[in-house]
Amino acid sequence: TRAVVLFTSDLRLHDHPPLRAALAAADEVVPLFVSDPGVRRAGFDAPNRRAFLSDCLADLDASLRRRGGRLVVRDGPVAREVAAVAAECGASEVHMAAPVSGYAHRREERLREALGAGGVALHVHDGTVTAVAPGRVTPAGSDHFAVFTPYFRRWSAERLRDPLPPPRSVRVPGGVRGEPLPSRDAVPGVSPDLPEGGETAGRERFLRWARSGMPAYEERHDDLGGDATSRLSPYLHFGALSAAELVVLARERGGPGAEAFVRQLCWRDFHHQVLAARPEASVRDYRSRGDRWRGEEDAAEDIAAWREGRTGYPVVDAAMRQLRHEGWMHNRARLLVASFLTKTLYVDWRIGARHFLDLLVDGDIVNNQLNWQWVAGTGTDTRPHRVLNPVVQGKRFDPRGVYVRRWVPELRDVEDARVHEPWRLPADRRARLDYPEPLIALSDGLARFKHARGRD
Ligand code: FAD
Repeated sequence: TRAVVLFTSDLRLHDHPPLRAALAAADEVVPLFVSDPGVRRAGFDAPNRRAFLSDCLADLDASLRRRGGRLVVRDGPVAREVAAVAAECGASEVHMAAPVSGYAHRREERLREALGAGGVALHVHDGTVTAVAPGRVTPAGSDHFAVFTPYFRRWSAERLRDPLPPPRSVRVPGGVRGEPLPSRDAVPGVSPDLPEGGETAGRERFLRWARSGMPAYEERHDDLGGDATSRLSPYLHFGALSAAELVVLARERGGPGAEAFVRQLCWRDFHHQVLAARPEASVRDYRSRGDRWRGEEDAAEDIAAWREGRTGYPVVDAAMRQLRHEGWMHNRARLLVASFLTKTLYVDWRIGARHFLDLLVDGDIVNNQLNWQWVAGTGTDTRPHRVLNPVVQGKRFDPRGVYVRRWVPELRDVEDARVHEPWRLPADRRARLDYPEPLIALSDGLARFKHARGRD
């Protein structure tokens, strides 16, 4: 008997329920990845993610080859290609991760239809992309949790499976046609410091960080200069690491750092269950506040300054430059720059979210859009009108200016006390710095925001 395993957002061999089930059911298995032109057209195929994806596929193929198998890559609409592969190898079943986004649900429906026509069964497996499947825990009277803390309580009580070991061997039937693997080197426009993708690199990073970073994560995760978070988000985005497995491994280690890390992984599941229940929240306000955001037409210069990291607020500029250089940004910095764009410049959150998706290697329709909404106050934040002050936040989370100086070399020689407020330097020194004046006075931004929200 033969089966196909369709890899989607789960590019790994460890802790992979669809692969495990296929290997239990069939003698020969085709591990398949389909590059869908629909996804590419929708603009989700940004260079940083395409490059990282190429690494993930190459690594998955290498791991399968060590076990006697290989990865088959096809190019075309997913339903058509999977049905064709199943027909080519005579598979009677296809296994894949349960869908967790609107796109993945539509993909599953089309696939089920295409396979049904050929008498091939489709099996979907929960707990592959998220640790706890969306909809698995719900509050009384609703299909999802709208507030994080009660969700976290219920989520924490869920029993997770023991992590599944990778298979020892995978036998792939002959005669299945595949495209050559894509190569990172062929992708233009990649950020210079993009990390290496793939399950092998992800596991190494996790194991290293679990020893060196996790114990102090609780105290240090907001330290911008210390850069003390796990940086596992791109591996989680592509499923090169299993969120469920990381929760189990972190809990085994225990301690406040591990607990804080597990809580962050829960945020990922939390957003997934919101978007699974409200797919339209990827483009529309989850909770409308009657905002009349400024768009590209009336805020073009502000938006350009924000994107390019020349707002005149050092911590904001540092963060935006980090994003361009690494395809990644620290969480505290994401909060700050998103608050600055939406609440100080009062620009539509979708414009910021789009820019993030163009550059973030972990850029993810679920986590990106819902975090943007959280910050913009149109999402699940229980304090939707809070505004983060970039000077106060900079002094608090980058007190020595380490982060600012790393990314804004114009301010390298400015002393700690002024590095977040270079406009307060004596005029002659200020004039010698090749660094812009603040784009807007924070008090003006705040007044406009309060007025817009009807809170003045
Ligand atoms: P760690 O602090 O080590 O956390 C561990 C893991 O927990 C992360 O890898 C991530 O998978 C998860 N996590 C942590 N915080 C969050 C959160 N707030 N929401 C969801 N998951 C979380 N994360 C993405 O994965 N993709 C995105 O596109 C994305 N866009 C964001 C946009 C904005 C405006 C904001 C404020 C946050 C966004 N985040 C996004 C969440 C968070 O900033 C990143 O997951 C985190 O910075 C990744 O770094 P890390 O792996 O070192 O995180």
